[in-house]
Amino acid sequence: MGEKKQLIYRQPGEGAIDFAKDFTDGLTQPQALFVITDLLAGKLHDISDKRIKRCDWCGYLYRDKTKPNSAKTCCRPCKYAKDNHAKAIKKADKALAKPKSSAKDSMYTYYAGHLEYPYYISEHYMLKRAHSYETPFAPDKLALIDAAKQRGYKRKGNATPTDGSDKVHVRGIRHKHSYGEVEVSQLESDYFERTYSERHLKMERWRAQQFKCSKKMHI
Ligand SMILES: [Zn+2]
Repeated sequence: MGEKKQLIYRQPGEGAIDFAKDFTDGLTQPQALFVITDLLAGKLHDISDKRIKRCDWCGYLYRDKTKPNSAKTCCRPCKYAKDNHAKAIKKADKALAKPKSSAKDSMYTYYAGHLEYPYYISEHYMLKRAHSYETPFAPDKLALIDAAKQRGYKRKGNATPTDGSDKVHVRGIRHKHSYGEVEVSQLESDYFERTYSERHLKMERWRAQQFKCSKKMHI
């Protein structure tokens, strides 16, 4: 049972254009249109010629110039596009058949928290999680750290000067940065009316109304 592949035309490749040129050279555009229509219908070329084929990618006729007559596409770009398309389909099929979150992954993060003696299956994952709120310290410094905490010591942030000066280092600004003069500008009252359409302004007003309460407050 031979199923006929549905013919899809894409942007014609170089080989296809070269082949059509032989038939349309010297014709006007409307004339060439008729010739190309006949050509695509298979009425003009020598059907016995095994070197004339349809490009697997762009769908147009072309002449295979390779020695073993084994090319499936009319030019290199068509071949690359065809290969990439096949690869994408293969990848999508593979992803469909085998979703990324496998049983192995869920075993890695599994925590039996409902038990009297909860446990992780993966020790590696347990340590990774615990590290975020139970940072390990060097055993010989534990007493020192504990004493410092009792004195109210807190690790200083990056912006706090540690040399007693009042110079504050702010990320992204060079150390000896000097500010330019402050310039004050004011919007003209009809700026928005001049710049945006009535419809746009109406939309923006609606948006402001709708979402004025949705912002999270950080105090
Ligand atoms: Zn092609």
